[in-house]
Amino acid sequence: MKHVLLFFLLTLSLASPAQTVYPHHRPTQPRTTVAQPVASPKVYVCGGGSAYAYHSSEGCAGLNRCSHGVNAVTVAEAEGMGRRPCKKCY
Ligand SMILES: [Zn+2]
Repeated sequence: MKHVLLFFLLTLSLASPAQTVYPHHRPTQPRTTVAQPVASPKVYVCGGGSAYAYHSSEGCAGLNRCSHGVNAVTVAEAEGMGRRPCKKCY
């Protein structure tokens, strides 16, 4: 799993050199008076370099073929990685 994570981070930094190192904490969100939903919806991406989609479900058929480990990220993060919504589960 550690190896997979490393690979994932490497892929990320290669894919988007302008981006800073992938933060483990959320970017500072603007403080608003209105309480926002605490949990941002999670999507699932395959850590493989050839993966192109993010999935609404961890059990999507598109993820079954993933052999690089599945990561749960927010939609914004997934799109930042250049992923598109999976055609099967979206
Ligand atoms: Zn899918």
